[in-house]
This record gives sequence, C-alpha cells and structure tokens, in this order.
Amino acid sequence: MTTARHRDAADPRRRVPRTDAVLADPALAAAAARLGRERVKDAVAGAQQRARDGVVAPEEVAADALAALPATATSIRPVLNASGVLLHTNLGRAPLSAAAREAIDAVAGTCDVELDLGTGRRGPRGTGALAALRRAVPEASAAWVANNGAAALALVCAAFAGTGREIVISRGQLVEIGDGFRIPELIESTGARLRPVGTTNRTHLRDYAEAIGDDTAFLLVVHPSNFVVTGFTSDVDVAELARLGPPVVADTGSGLLRPHPRLPEEPDVASTLAAGADLVTASGDKLLGGPQAGLLLGGGERGAELVERVRRFPLARAVRVDKLTLAALEASVTGPPTPVRDALDATPEDLRARAAALAAALAADGVDAHPLDTVAGVGGGGAPGVELPSAAVSLPARYADPLRAGDPPVLGRVADGRCLLDLRALPPSADDVLGAVVRAVPDPEA
Ligand SMILES: *Cc1c(COP(=O)(O)O)cnc(C)c1O
Repeated sequence: MTTARHRDAADPRRRVPRTDAVLADPALAAAAARLGRERVKDAVAGAQQRARDGVVAPEEVAADALAALPATATSIRPVLNASGVLLHTNLGRAPLSAAAREAIDAVAGTCDVELDLGTGRRGPRGTGALAALRRAVPEASAAWVANNGAAALALVCAAFAGTGREIVISRGQLVEIGDGFRIPELIESTGARLRPVGTTNRTHLRDYAEAIGDDTAFLLVVHPSNFVVTGFTSDVDVAELARLGPPVVADTGSGLLRPHPRLPEEPDVASTLAAGADLVTASGDKLLGGPQAGLLLGGGERGAELVERVRRFPLARAVRVDKLTLAALEASVTGPPTPVRDALDATPEDLRARAAALAAALAADGVDAHPLDTVAGVGGGGAPGVELPSAAVSLPARYADPLRAGDPPVLGRVADGRCLLDLRALPPSADDVLGAVVRAVPDPEA
C-alpha cells in the first residue's frame, strides 16, 4: 500500500525546480542578458506552473521557459501576411524595405538628426527626408512630415481654421477611414467648423462657390479611400476647385507619390499638386511603403507659405516625428522599390507559379494543398474596389487557427471552407518559411 509520503515523493509536481536553479541554466542566463531578467523570470514562472499542472516534466522547465520567450525584447511579433490584403492596418501596414530597416538601425543610437556637424551647432531637423520627398515630387514647393496622416490633417485644420473658421467639404467626403476614425470628428476636434456642401452622391462646383465667404479657411478634398460610390454620382476635381480662390487642401490618404498603372483611380501626390492643390496630406505607411508618417506637401508659392505656417504652428511640435521615422522615410523614398511596390507590381503569372510550386511541395509531403487563383486587394485605406489578380495555396480550413499560432504566425483567410494563403502581399523569399509553418501544423489524423 502506498503511503501519502510515498505518493508525494513520486509526484512530479513535487520536483518542480526552484526559480534560481532554472535561471542559472546557461541558455536562460543568455536570454536574460538579451531580453531582460523580468521577462525571463515571467517565462520561468509560467513553465513552473505548467510543471505543477503536470503538463510539462520537471526536467523540461528550463526548455519550456526558453520556448515561451520572444525572439526579441518586444512582445510584438512578426507575422507573415498571407491575407491577400496588401496594406493590413492590423499587421502594421507597409512592411519596410531592407534599406529602411538598415537606416533605422543606423540612427538608433545618437545621431546628427538635428545637429550641424560642420559648425557643431543645432541644425534643421530631418532635412534628408524632406529633400528626398522634394526630389521624388518635383511638383512640391515645400515638404514637412508629422506623425501620421491624421496628425497632418488635424494640424492643417488647427493651424488655419482652429479659431472657428470654416472648412468647406463635400458631403460625399465626410468619411470614416478606420475603426471609429471619422474625418469630420477629427476636423471638428481641432476647433474648426465644417461647412458641408452638396449631397452624398453629387456635389457641384456651384455648391462650393455658394459656400465660400469671409469665414472660409480652405476647401478640403478628402479621398474616400475605403469605398466607392457608383451610379448617379459627380464630384468636383481639384483643378476646378483651385480656380475658386481659397486655398485647396487635399487629403489623398494613400501616399502614392506618382500615378501607378495598376491603380488608375488612386489620387497621387504629384498629380494632385499639378492640378492646383496648395497642400496635399498623405500617409507614409500605405502605398508609399514607408514608416508611419503624415506627409505634408505644398504646391506653388502659396503652398510653400502654408507649409511654413504649419511648421511653425505650436501643435506641430506635438506631432513631430522621431529620428527613426525620418531615417526610414528617407530610405523608403530614395532606396530600391519598397516591398509594397514589389507586391503591387508582382505579375499574376509569377504568383501562380509560386503558388503551384509551394502547393506541389506541400502535397508531396501529404498536405491537402492545391494552388488557387484569387483576388487580392490593396486595403488599409487605398485603392478601394481595386482587384489585384493573385494566387494562393488552398488548405483545409482547420489550418487557419494553428497557422496563426505558428512560428512565425501566418495570417491567411478562410473562404468557401478553405484556408487560403494568398501570396500577393508576400515576397518570394517568404515561400519557404510559409511552407515550413504549414508542415509544422499537426495532422489531426496522425
Ligand atoms: C488613411 C487615411 C487617413 C489617416 O492616415 P493615418 O496615417 O492612418 O493617420 C486620413 N485620410 C485618408 C483619406 C486616409 O486614407
């Protein structure tokens, strides 16, 4: 007969190693040096609990803690975007180019972001990034950068209309951009007054003309970047508005600097300035393919003056970008094509060939995988309604959850009872890793 004492000694739960003993494990000590002791201690505590629960053998506590640690000292994890949405806001929008990543790394320490090394005195901030924007968009007479597109727009509204002056805007452009982010609410939060004109589907030049008065600060054009209105519609283009007199500010959203053949309807910064806009605002992490940023570009003499006034407006200091953003933005604008650009330019033939090769390799390993033609989208506030022909590896739907728990996690999409891994948003170099994550999903029948 087993006594209570005996049972305790045999119980693996009694043999859970002590914290200091686990922390002395060389691999965990090295991890603590890289990631910080607290994070490693938390992982050890989790592993000890799993051992007490009988899920992990006492001998395995150190290895289990090690496996639970992130690769770097951030809990934000890299995810493979196989969703078929090029700019996925939940996935951090544009993936940065190697050039941008290197630039971030290079300036992460102390750097001359605001120092003139020639004189040893304070220098202008971010000149390289601003000059790069000017070179990329010769139509611009001035440039400035804020934290994001919303900040750039809010700053313009606060600087020119924050005292209660009016911003004239078409009713068709009073849009909600993202989850709970409404352009009209943002504008009114700055103290500006909105003067909506026209109707949801149709706004005419005379609607603007009749609304213009002494209180008008500027005319605002907002690109409805996540939906299209079709049917009996009409709106007024920037060139016509520019002839009415007051400054024209255009929020183009996507940050496309020049026209792109695949996105004929998407407004770009250069064309909008050429059409006569005085100020254009745009995001850095959408189609531009750079870091989160809000671009402000001026057109002509008046635009340059407006940019200067915005730059000197006190709130500008509160939405100032950091050195990492400036470095990554400059590298994204001047460097080789960004990953977003490459994804946009990938041909359907290439995507199909990649999907076929990956599906065949997986099928050879017994995975129920086949290639499938799909339709991808730009997403993230750009090119609404644009369909990008794409290709995916089609897997049983049960793969979706374990793939999100994979290493690295993979975000696909489930359609018609299948889990689709769309290749449009992924570089070819990701295909091998994608295959490895799929193979690592346990077979429920095994
Ligand atoms: C995305 C978007 C914004 C907001 O830009 P963020 O960089 O996300 O702050 C504003 N206006 C338009 C038209 C957009 O598409």
